[in-house]
Amino acid sequence: MSRLVVVSNRVADLTDPVQSGGLAVALRDALESRGGLWFGWDGNTVPSGTRIPPKITKISGVTTVTLPMTQRDYREYYVGFSNSVLWPMLHYRLDLVKFKSGYLKGYKRVNSKFADALVPFLKPDDIIWVHDFHLFPLGAELRKRGCRQRIGFFLHIPFCPPEILAAAPENEWLVRTLFAYDLVGFQTITDLENFRRYVEVHGGGSTDDVGVTSAFGARTSIACFPIGIDTEAFQAMASSPEGQARVRQFRKRILPRQLIIGVDRLDYTKGLPDRLRAFARLLELYPENRKTVTFMQIAAPTREDVVAYGDIRAELEQLSGAINGRFGDFDWTPLRYIHRHVPRDTLAVLFGQSQVGFVSPLRDGMNLVAKEYVAAQDSRNPGVLVLSKFAGAAEALKEAVIVNPYDVDEMAESLQKALRMPLKQRQQRQKALMATIRKHDVHEWQQNFLNALAKAPIATEPGSHETGRMGDPALLPDGL
Ligand code: ADP
Repeated sequence: MSRLVVVSNRVADLTDPVQSGGLAVALRDALESRGGLWFGWDGNTVPSGTRIPPKITKISGVTTVTLPMTQRDYREYYVGFSNSVLWPMLHYRLDLVKFKSGYLKGYKRVNSKFADALVPFLKPDDIIWVHDFHLFPLGAELRKRGCRQRIGFFLHIPFCPPEILAAAPENEWLVRTLFAYDLVGFQTITDLENFRRYVEVHGGGSTDDVGVTSAFGARTSIACFPIGIDTEAFQAMASSPEGQARVRQFRKRILPRQLIIGVDRLDYTKGLPDRLRAFARLLELYPENRKTVTFMQIAAPTREDVVAYGDIRAELEQLSGAINGRFGDFDWTPLRYIHRHVPRDTLAVLFGQSQVGFVSPLRDGMNLVAKEYVAAQDSRNPGVLVLSKFAGAAEALKEAVIVNPYDVDEMAESLQKALRMPLKQRQQRQKALMATIRKHDVHEWQQNFLNALAKAPIATEPGSHETGRMGDPALLPDGL
């Protein structure tokens, strides 16, 4: 079997099984079974001009190769083009996009540096899997350096409609770089359709029945691979006796019978302000919930160097104070807003002991919290998932209570419905949701992608010989 090389912006900490998310675990499994290599940034920054060789570490058969980033690269590639242009844009938030000179150059520079640093580690028959929006052009950079291996790309976040993407600087170049990959994977049908539309409109493209897309004079395969979680492991974590005991203690201290839980990175895509407003509206419309329901919102700090994240934090602090001031009493804090990272096993138990999982992103590639909430439920007395129709997860989790995250009143009504849902109905919904997330877990996702990559027709320029690679300089479409 070919060796697997995973490339992502950051390399997960493979030594910490409790803190590693499902993605890290699934990729580690795949890497371990093939004796693979994981390449990416180590999370550190160094002064510009510093040259530090990549650090090589070996953990149970997996080699990680990591490198620091210069402060300038961090500013321009990471905070800049990745998180202040691509992230908001691909989440349909043109209003939050900040273009600055240097961002795009920095993005191109770091992708080129990644390619330079990676190439010496590659073997001719490796399979290379590149992850996410930070690294769109990495495949093209590798091809420029003569790499002929199979290379796949998976986009973990949404792919916005072409009308929005058209506002990005050099958007055609960006999309065209994806044609250096043999396979491009998306989370949902919506994302896949947006991509198809983009290449039709801007690249004179078309897609055949098996997902081979031709555009910009090049060809690649596209398909949809909705990511899952490590369902069994999360379920086991939710029922660990130590975790249960810890949370039971805390549950005794907070009076209310029912708990609504929200868990997110503190990101403007997560719809947090309207989520808090919906809870306030629930208390207004249905006062019987006062003193009997608490909403716990855990929001982990993230990307604090990006201005828009400071704004959303201030808004939430103001809102949570206003809600508690208005509805709270000596013996009841309606909203518990926690701005902190929480250990995964504690989260799992908290999910299991909450009557409602409230997941209301304005736009989300998938949303794994929705799946984790389902995995953590006790099938005999399960809670109810209230889920935004704009989370990728809503394409499969049809038995959740689906809401429009922009409609505060509708969300309040849905919370009431969830809090009052009869046991039988909760059990039926849970059974169906659980069957879905068991079948389509992160291990299946990883296998499906790698199988499809192994089988995908090699990306070529139309008309060129099948054995030709886009790595041949003569075959590269303009601009790659
Ligand atoms: P995103 O990738 O945009 O952050 P997802 O819902 O897909 O959103 O994945 C988030 C992951 O991070 C989940 O595994 C979730 O459990 C974890 N997570 C989110 N918030 C916290 C927190 N406050 N503490 C610990 N883990 C968190």
